[in-house]
Amino acid sequence: MAAETKMVKDGDPNYSDDNDEEENFSEDGDWGDWEAAEKDDDDGFESDFVCLFCDSRFVSSDSLFDHCRLSHGFDFHGARKALKLDFYASFKLINYIRSQVAENKCWSWGALGKCQLEAKDVNFPWDEEKYLKPFLQEDSLLYSFADDEEEEDEEEALDREDLIEDLRKLGDLSIVDDEAIGESSVSNNGKCKDVSLISNSDDGKQSCADGLVVVNGKGKEPSVCDGRLVGRNIRKVNENYFGSYSSFGIHREMISDKVRTEAYRDALLKNPSLMSGSVVMDVGCGTGILSLFAAKAGASRVVAVEASEKMAKVATKIAKDNKVFNDKEHNGVLEVANSMVEELEKSIKIQPHSVDVLVSEWMGYCLLYESMLTSVLYARDRWLKPGGAILPDTATMFVAGFGKGATSLPFWEDVYGFDMSSIGKEILEDTARIPIVDVVEERDLVTQPALLQSFDLATMKPDEVDFTATATLEPTESETEARLCHGVVLWFDTGFTDRFCKETPTVLSTSPYTPPTHWAQTVLTFQEPISVAPATVLSGDDRQGAIGTKECPASSIQLRVSVARASEHRSIDVSLETTGVSSKGQKLRWPVQIFNL
Ligand code: SAH
Repeated sequence: MAAETKMVKDGDPNYSDDNDEEENFSEDGDWGDWEAAEKDDDDGFESDFVCLFCDSRFVSSDSLFDHCRLSHGFDFHGARKALKLDFYASFKLINYIRSQVAENKCWSWGALGKCQLEAKDVNFPWDEEKYLKPFLQEDSLLYSFADDEEEEDEEEALDREDLIEDLRKLGDLSIVDDEAIGESSVSNNGKCKDVSLISNSDDGKQSCADGLVVVNGKGKEPSVCDGRLVGRNIRKVNENYFGSYSSFGIHREMISDKVRTEAYRDALLKNPSLMSGSVVMDVGCGTGILSLFAAKAGASRVVAVEASEKMAKVATKIAKDNKVFNDKEHNGVLEVANSMVEELEKSIKIQPHSVDVLVSEWMGYCLLYESMLTSVLYARDRWLKPGGAILPDTATMFVAGFGKGATSLPFWEDVYGFDMSSIGKEILEDTARIPIVDVVEERDLVTQPALLQSFDLATMKPDEVDFTATATLEPTESETEARLCHGVVLWFDTGFTDRFCKETPTVLSTSPYTPPTHWAQTVLTFQEPISVAPATVLSGDDRQGAIGTKECPASSIQLRVSVARASEHRSIDVSLETTGVSSKGQKLRWPVQIFNL
């Protein structure tokens, strides 16, 4: 998957939008027989209200609340009135119920509701900051229930500005993703931006006390969790996101990435025992390239799902041109649904758990940027047969330390014989806050690679996309002297392993050791470089000085990295804690760095 923008070494956006091709593309005429899925509204979000207690979906919050009252004995408006719940208490209540239902704790309001309604001066169990965070990523209910109320009673209309002010008074709180640690983690943007993440556990395992505290490193306004604002923001980000995939340039870039496309091609075409006669779902089909491979591999049905309206039309046309489209004229196996996969049932008939192979190219920069993985996991849980295959089925993140060659310093040090290194240094200071997507050469690595995190896509839970992991970087063994480590580079591999690809397992690697891909690598620059040298080089020395300086190079660097979906939909926050370890085992820790991608 390619993203709309790309960060490069000097921090300049360098995205070449291949619009020429796009402009030549005719929108009408050719797509005569394309039938867009019927939608209840312009954007398809406001009509999708998921019950608080079961899987039922409704077109309005009113019909949802009627259902909750009749089927689950929960009268939302009654409860709000009786308990005098204001907007954000109600907002928290919804998230609280969803969280409890998800844990199978309360399938109906029943006993809990009665006890709360009777009690006076109680602290409601939902009265915690963590319930200001939407439990469902796109919960239409959260930004509609107050509107209903406002219509009913003008006098009680909620002033959004007042609410925001109230939320601000809670202490400039921004709520961060915390499900991974099962505890509320609230960070104060103003006060603890530079506070180091203190680990209370020596074994490197994550504990509640060493919670994942990820703040927005760009010093943005506190993110206030007014559900309606959240909802609008999600819709806007989604529009921009799917809009960016309407550009043919992005699809050309992805298809031309041979490492990527050939890995998928081999997985689909060279594993006949998996593909022959199977029902395949392609989540985010774009041009339909993976679906075409699947059809060619002998699938009996290929459901290509694409949220971008333009690309769904394009994929349909291409499937027809290649005689694999499933209609009377073409009699093929491939059908295209223009829908977000989360709303697929509105567009086509498909039985739950009826898919043999789920394929998707969902990976973003630093693996998790763009957060499409949660959509794929949603599709897995809804449509994949028990034991069905997911392609790829593993994803692994790696990290290594890089030296000066991977920075812009060498360029500025010698410009036609003049020393412009002050520019290079200034750029480096800036990049200590901004992740850079760029190709790092193997020769510029100064440590060995280390595994950071692995995902088993067949079994992982959606919340596990937010994680904290530790890794230890050992200087490259062949080094005979100390070198400066300027930061770390992250990359990922995805595996089409022999669990599903029996005949031809394949790995798609985006590492600095293999040919570059359009994902390049993600570069996180340290605030100051750390001098490193293998323990063998340092042994016998009795060096004095601060760890990581040239007087006392570190013999290893310990890292703790947290990756979490940021408050801005589809973006991620990465926090980096760095500890230098001397050959004698003494440690020096640098302040935590926060990057937003
Ligand atoms: N499979 C294609 C395109 C991959 S890019 C290829 O390999 O070349 C990812 C595509 O997924 C984009 O076209 C994007 O619009 C689509 N997409 C992202 N999230 C989606 C979702 N939730 N539902 C449906 N399509 C989605």
